[in-house]
Amino acid sequence: MRKSPVVRLVLPPRARPETARPALNRYRLHVTARESNAAALSVHDQTLSFPVLEWRGAFARRLLDSNPLSPRDLANGTHGLDKSDLQKLALAAVSIAMSSRPHTHRAQTHREGADIRARAELALSLRLKRLRIRIPAFHSRVARLLFRYPGKHLLREDAVGMTALEYPSIDRPRIESLLDDLVRWRVIQRIEAGIETGKEHVFYDIDTTPHLHLYRSQTGELDDAPDTGVLRID
Ligand SMILES: [Zn+2]
Repeated sequence: MRKSPVVRLVLPPRARPETARPALNRYRLHVTARESNAAALSVHDQTLSFPVLEWRGAFARRLLDSNPLSPRDLANGTHGLDKSDLQKLALAAVSIAMSSRPHTHRAQTHREGADIRARAELALSLRLKRLRIRIPAFHSRVARLLFRYPGKHLLREDAVGMTALEYPSIDRPRIESLLDDLVRWRVIQRIEAGIETGKEHVFYDIDTTPHLHLYRSQTGELDDAPDTGVLRID
């Protein structure tokens, strides 16, 4: 009798036992809301034990006021979140960031999203051509994410958080070193705006030409200074 070929049955990995940490506890949301305009929100990943997202100042206040989660989850204090809550929160933050851009007053349609991605890809390829460099594929994916926000200055934490959401398998130190590479290769510019509440405020700007910035220490926002007119400092 002919020997039959060896067939190996590959089974999917066994489901985690019930004792595994419940999904609800994976993310912890810390909310600090004060009476004034200021607030602070941060999300910590318990499993990987690193901070995933953080918002402060007026932006955090707007995010809280947009009620992305149930009032119970947005009260002062610490709350357990699952992945879908985290996504709701991140989407609400993205929509606030997009709507605060002067010409974007409505939700982004699918088509607009595709246009933004195409423009980001084109802008990045032109940049790399001008710099006469080629960068590794994953660096270019991360750079394309940043190039989706022309004219905007992304806080380092936001850039890291945004990349972590898009590519959850990449850990934070790796993302940070990728961003450092992009700065070193002059694909993006790093701006240190100062230290607020003991934390360094570092931003990324895809505009690498030398230009002046306006930093609002009250809200922690960074913008390009107007290129005409008078900038008065009292
Ligand atoms: Zn700038």
